[in-house]
Amino acid sequence: MSLDSISLGVEPPPVCPHCGEVTTAATVRTTFWFDEGPVIVEDIPAHVCGSCMEQFYDDDVGDALRRLAETGFPREEAAAHISVPVFSLSGRIRRRGRLPDDCDLD
Ligand SMILES: [Zn+2]
Repeated sequence: MSLDSISLGVEPPPVCPHCGEVTTAATVRTTFWFDEGPVIVEDIPAHVCGSCMEQFYDDDVGDALRRLAETGFPREEAAAHISVPVFSLSGRIRRRGRLPDDCDLD
């Protein structure tokens, strides 16, 4: 166990509660949808399932995320600001034509 993992309080990799696969310690980023739009949180110590890619956080990490959310993700504390493109599917959905009568669906 490295000094880093001790200071971060990271336990040995737990098993994924969803699929039972072993998880790997990783530093991840995630997006939260907040009232004023999405915010990105980086440098999150997490355990990532190698099978379903679900991310799990230790209690201390979850507490830090909760505190950040409770303070409303203050913009002045953000490490960086980015602009993101926003797309709409309006007008992009191509409806499939009806299947021919002789089409065998089995
Ligand atoms: Zn899993």
